Parts: sequence; structure tokens; C-alpha cells
Amino acid sequence: MSRFLSDRFASLEAYVPGEQPQDMQYIKLNTNESPYPPSPSVRRRLMDGEIEALQLYPNPDYTRLRQLLADACGVGRENILLGNGSDEVLSMAFLAFCDGTHGAVFPDVTYGFYPVFARLYGIPFREQPLREDFTVDPADYMKNDAMVVLANPNAPTGLSLPLETVEAILRANPDRVVVVDEAYVDFGGVSAAPLTAKYDNLLVVQTFSKSRSMAGARLGFGVACRCLIEDLEKMRYSINPYNINRLTAAAGEAALEDAAYYQDNCRRIMQTREDTARAMAAMGFTLTRSQGNFLFARHPKTGGGELYQALRDRGVLVRWFNRPRTADWLRITVGTPEQMDALLQTLKQILEG
Ligand SMILES: *Cc1c(COP(=O)(O)O)cnc(C)c1O
Repeated sequence: MSRFLSDRFASLEAYVPGEQPQDMQYIKLNTNESPYPPSPSVRRRLMDGEIEALQLYPNPDYTRLRQLLADACGVGRENILLGNGSDEVLSMAFLAFCDGTHGAVFPDVTYGFYPVFARLYGIPFREQPLREDFTVDPADYMKNDAMVVLANPNAPTGLSLPLETVEAILRANPDRVVVVDEAYVDFGGVSAAPLTAKYDNLLVVQTFSKSRSMAGARLGFGVACRCLIEDLEKMRYSINPYNINRLTAAAGEAALEDAAYYQDNCRRIMQTREDTARAMAAMGFTLTRSQGNFLFARHPKTGGGELYQALRDRGVLVRWFNRPRTADWLRITVGTPEQMDALLQTLKQILEG
């Protein structure tokens, strides 16, 4: 028992991030980071004077970074909110748009942070079971009195919803916010960001952590109509108006100025994903049709936990979610072709041994 923690957090279960082991060199395929470094333009920009500027607070409006994001998304600067990682944007959305009577609803198999935010803020939530094949039944989100949160593509399944379905859900919930978490949209998905011009209840959330090789910099953003952004800015200015540090803001600007570099990397990762999926299917794995930078797979001959441990013992780190519906499955980040060859060799050894 903690002596000082408030009673309202006595039963709070914090989010458990994927391991960042320091004990040995693993082939690290467990937290969906990019296997490629940031663009050379990011390094140049950081070396180029930003360090001297650290004595000053950043501009809390982050005018230039937001303008570059607005240009990239085809919206206005007033439609962009920055977060210290997209987790912070999601956190602000739960805080701003939900309370004890207006809850949240999301799938039973999805990003594990959603229920943590809900519990942290005392928000009632419903976990809608995905269908047997892990697809979303849109009907589950058509009539409710709660903020809808959908990762698209979803994690850890990699499956995505067509924009028409997202739009139908938006139309069915005119009085509640619909959050579309697009952490993986750059790996073959289609962004709902343009729909923010048409639907004032839509919040699209994206991140620099996956497709833009900046998980360590912590930068995410939301796209929404001006009103929703103003609501979220009220939260941001009440928590930390300087939530993006100068180095990260500068890195983000430089990254956006080299879009071609990241598009190349995404294409490469998608190619590696398809090659690896084909090789794993040939080894007897069942896989979802992932549109993320990860694969979701199971093998009929071994349980998920067993295979996770066998891979770990051989220096390959993947993610295993030990919950009833996912315990047979592994989520494997798509790395470089060399890393994936090593993964395939190791899987072969394990399955033949
Ligand atoms: C990785 C991830 C995030 C969080 O990303 P950060 O920007 O690093 O906080 C959010 N949602 C989903 C679905 C993710 O997989």
C-alpha cells in the first residue's frame, strides 16, 4: 500500500510499454519503431543553432511546425494541435471530451493505452468485441453516448477500416467526438484528415514515432476543426503550454521538409512487410493483412508465449499480448530486410527443433 497516493488511483493499472532492454543486443522488433534513422536534415538542423537557443522557452504557439503540418495535411494551422507524442494528444482528448457520464468506446483488441486513460480520468468505457477475424463491426459504433476511439489501421491487428465506414460512424455520432488514431496510416492507409473540414466531431491523431523515425523525440499531433482544437488547447495550456521542447520542434520541422526521405522509407518497410509475410505464410503462419509497420501472426504448432520466449532466448525481441483473444499471436515490427532474414532463420530453427 502506498502511503501517499490518492485513493482514486488505488486500483489504477498503468500502461506497460514494450521492453527497452539494456542487458544485451537484441534484434528489436517489439515497439514498432522505424529501423531507419531520421533524415540527415534533422541532424543538420539540431546542430545548427538550436542548442544555443535552449536557454529560452519555445514559442508555445509552435507557429512554423504547425504551419508545415497544416500544409502537409491540407488544412489550416488553426486545425493542428501538437502533443508530446500522440499519447499526449489522446490523453488530452479523454480529458477534454469525456467525464463520469460521457464515457468512451473502443474495440476489445486495440491500443492498450485507451483503457488506461479512461481509468486515470475516471471515465466509464466499453470495449466492443471485434469480430472473430479481428475486423470492426461498424454497427457497434453507430448508436452510443460515448467518445468513439478507433485506431486505423488498428494495432496490433494491422487491419484498417475504409474511409466510407469512418464517415458513416462520424455521421451516426454528431454529438460525440470520434477519435481516429492514425499512428500507422503512412504504411498504406488513407488518412481521414481531409474529413475534418466536413465533420466538426472528428479528431485525427498522428505521430512522428513510427513512419518518421522519431520515437525518441516524442512528437505527435491532432487534426480537427477549429472548435475541437480550441477545446484541446485549453487542456494543453492548463497542463504544459511548452509541451514540445525546442529540439523536438526543430527536428519535426526538418523532418517535414524532407518528406521524400520518409516516403522512401515507408515504401521500403511496406515491401519488407509483404516479403516477410509471404515467407512466414510459407512456414505455416496465419497472418492478418497488416497495413502497419508490423505483422500479426500465429503458428498452429506453438502458443504465442512459448514462441515469444523462444525468440527472446535467441536474441529476437517481439511483442506478445497475454490476453484471451491475442495470447496465440505475436506482433512483430517490420525491421530492415537483414533483420527480417534473421527473424525468419530463427523461426525456422525454433519450429524445426
Ligand atoms: C505507437 C502508438 C501511439 C503512440 O505513439 P507516440 O506518438 O509515440 O506517443 C498511439 N497510438 C497507437 C495505435 C500506436 O501504436
